[in-house]
Amino acid sequence: MNRVKSETLMQRALKVIPGGVNSPVRAFKGVGGTPIFFESSNGPYMTDVDGNQFIDYVGSWGPLIHGHGFPATLNGIKKQAGYSLGFGAPTELEIEIAELIVERVPSIDLVRMVNSGTEATMTAIRLARGFTGRNKIVKFEGCYHGHSDSLLVKAGSGVLTLGLPDSPGVPTDLAKHTLNSKFNDIEQITELFHLHGDDIAAVIVEPIAGNMGCIPAEVKFLETLKVLTQKFGSLLIFDEVMTGFRVGFHSAQGLYNILPDITTLGKVIGGGLPVGAVGGSKEVMNRLAPSGDIYQAGTLSGNPLTIKAGISVIESLTPQSYTDLKEKTDSLVAGLTKAASVSNVPVTINVVCGMFSLFFTDQNKISDYQLASECNAERYTSFFHGMLEEGIYFAPSAFESAFISTTHGEMEIEKTIEAANEVIPRI
Ligand code: PMP
Repeated sequence: MNRVKSETLMQRALKVIPGGVNSPVRAFKGVGGTPIFFESSNGPYMTDVDGNQFIDYVGSWGPLIHGHGFPATLNGIKKQAGYSLGFGAPTELEIEIAELIVERVPSIDLVRMVNSGTEATMTAIRLARGFTGRNKIVKFEGCYHGHSDSLLVKAGSGVLTLGLPDSPGVPTDLAKHTLNSKFNDIEQITELFHLHGDDIAAVIVEPIAGNMGCIPAEVKFLETLKVLTQKFGSLLIFDEVMTGFRVGFHSAQGLYNILPDITTLGKVIGGGLPVGAVGGSKEVMNRLAPSGDIYQAGTLSGNPLTIKAGISVIESLTPQSYTDLKEKTDSLVAGLTKAASVSNVPVTINVVCGMFSLFFTDQNKISDYQLASECNAERYTSFFHGMLEEGIYFAPSAFESAFISTTHGEMEIEKTIEAANEVIPRI
């Protein structure tokens, strides 16, 4: 496959953009090689600058639940652009999207729109700290919640010690307020609460982790978080930036039937444009400015183009959409599993309605970061490059979730399985 133009563009990009990309994982550092520069897309397909076509399983990292160029989104944006790109003043559209979110996400009574997932989780943390008057927060190893200072923190040497900066530039004094615990480990979080519970403002968790590959939380684990946060007067934050409107009609909290105090959203609710949102009960959300004293603001928040795009997607999603997505994902996963088993390549594939991840391992259950990181990364790298040559675009990192859209049809799924049958025996 010829990718000369991508190679040339990367050389040009490196001269003016740090690392040549505007977000690190696009740089192919996890798998080696040169990132592909894309030009156009349609449904499940993307075409690069060299004219190669790929079936896309990244979906812009989650937002594109209806694939590329969803007609209702394109038409909505075009129409809205004719009216206005934004006023910095209220619009009826903002009420419409808020009403849709409140209707669908069980724990949300009030919602504030922002411009990215990072902004949403950052706001959620400030809100929880302001509401409880406490500083400490708890996050789980392998979960990613955007790159704000309080959340870019890794575990200290002992898991129950205070957090350390996960990047230069994050103050140690701030990182120490973030405690890390093991995902899906009930004993550890219980112990942590018994040590620090009265100081914990919030626990933030991806109910279905998507940033160490796709790893669903166990029901009992989330139930424990709910019980502990209630008992100790902390808030429970579900980071549904990835899972919101992706895994079910009522998002992950609907699947688990567990209601957090605060929910963060992003990706799907922006229809492919930059977006985030933070929502929760009236009592908590009314503490946000201007109704309350906890400050948060945004020049472009609730931008009409984004909101129009978001509404077009949310309105089009029905319970049936998720049944269809689940069927498609299950049939693809069954094909990939078979391809691996025929070639004696051990693999465990985690899957939740439209999200899935291949873990090359002989462990039959991958339920936390430790297990995910022990998988065969070289094998994923070979799989990734092999599939790319066959015209199938998976995420350029073993620690990402793959996404399927409503536009992936039988033909694309068959083509993907055929490609896997070619590639897996060689990896
Ligand atoms: N939370 C989760 C669960 C995410 O997956 C991401 C992004 N992948 C974020 C937060 C941050 O969102 P953004 O990249 O829009 O800032």
